[in-house]
Amino acid sequence: MTDSFELGPIRPPSEAYSLLIRVTRNCPWNRCKFCHIYKGKKFELRPVEEIKQDILAVKAIQDRLKETAWKAGYGGKVEEVAAAILNNPPNEAFFNVALWLYYGGTSAFLQDANSLIMRTNELVEVLRFLKQTLPTITRVTSYARSKTAAKKKPEELVQLREAGLSRLHIGLESGYDPLLEYMDKGVTAAEHIKGGKNIVASGISLSEYVLLGLGGEKMWREHATETAKVLNQIDPDFIRVRTLTIKAGMPLYDEVKNGNFIRQTDEEIIEGEKLFIENLDCQSNLISDHITNLLQEIEGKLPEDKEKMLATIARFQSLSPEEKQNFIVGRRAGIYERLDELNNSLKHDSVEQAIQRLSHNGNQVDEETIHSLMERFI
Ligand code: SF4
Repeated sequence: MTDSFELGPIRPPSEAYSLLIRVTRNCPWNRCKFCHIYKGKKFELRPVEEIKQDILAVKAIQDRLKETAWKAGYGGKVEEVAAAILNNPPNEAFFNVALWLYYGGTSAFLQDANSLIMRTNELVEVLRFLKQTLPTITRVTSYARSKTAAKKKPEELVQLREAGLSRLHIGLESGYDPLLEYMDKGVTAAEHIKGGKNIVASGISLSEYVLLGLGGEKMWREHATETAKVLNQIDPDFIRVRTLTIKAGMPLYDEVKNGNFIRQTDEEIIEGEKLFIENLDCQSNLISDHITNLLQEIEGKLPEDKEKMLATIARFQSLSPEEKQNFIVGRRAGIYERLDELNNSLKHDSVEQAIQRLSHNGNQVDEETIHSLMERFI
């Protein structure tokens, strides 16, 4: 038995402490203009036996940590040993198991971009084996594409839920067809709705990601209103917002360079977020758990928290131009987390100093600089 197993490149922020099990490699679509994660990498299904070997490798690492805990006099408390391993892990896989155990060992996330594309019986087999081998796991989540979820038979999704699949994270990004087409998302609003509804009907929890700013200067209004309309029909458990960040390696980077895509400023994106929230008419939890979001405090349960969320936007929009710039630069430089921190004079002063350094004329930081600060986040 080896002390290592394969890991994919990403997981959602909400799965930071989950065990990572790679069931496929890369993305079977891989064409979205705003995504660089798997570009140049070929999609592959992994044989079930290979995935099982990885799960057994996790168990072997877990057993070694348990044995060390007993020898060190911690009894069954593996967390103490896991914490020590986190400071000096022998490899990335060991680190992932230690982190997972440190945080209770109850969640697993199946990588990479679209696990639902596996044959249902094979994914069921993997889920069963995972839960049998590592019985502390009570929650298993994964990424999926709407198009794949739209093609799955409702009974197949129910089988997956019964085998232990608790939640799917889907990159909805937008509900506006011309924008989905321009971004080469490979899915229509109707397919988003069908796929999303299939998942909700199966009883698997659904989290839909929306990409703020994706409409750019040309399509921001429709992006906001049509995305809200699609989500109102799906009514997912979670709507998670992220903000468009563009870097080299994304086809959209070239679109910006050749002038086909005009990026919005942070203030314009917030105006779009306001329109989006105003148009939401569903029961979902809206979550802002991504560092790319300017106003991470915009969170709440719909519909009851809608006014509170809009009030946060109104508070930002009512700031003076100088304070708005201070907040935007402070947020993009990683100094602020929340609007309230504008009242922290130490942080406020250090942002002012950053503005002096970053601005060309001593008081105005240009959009290019803000965008390059954001690139560090993805
Ligand atoms: S489907 Fe997801 S992972 Fe694949 S290219 Fe699009 S955004 Fe990237």
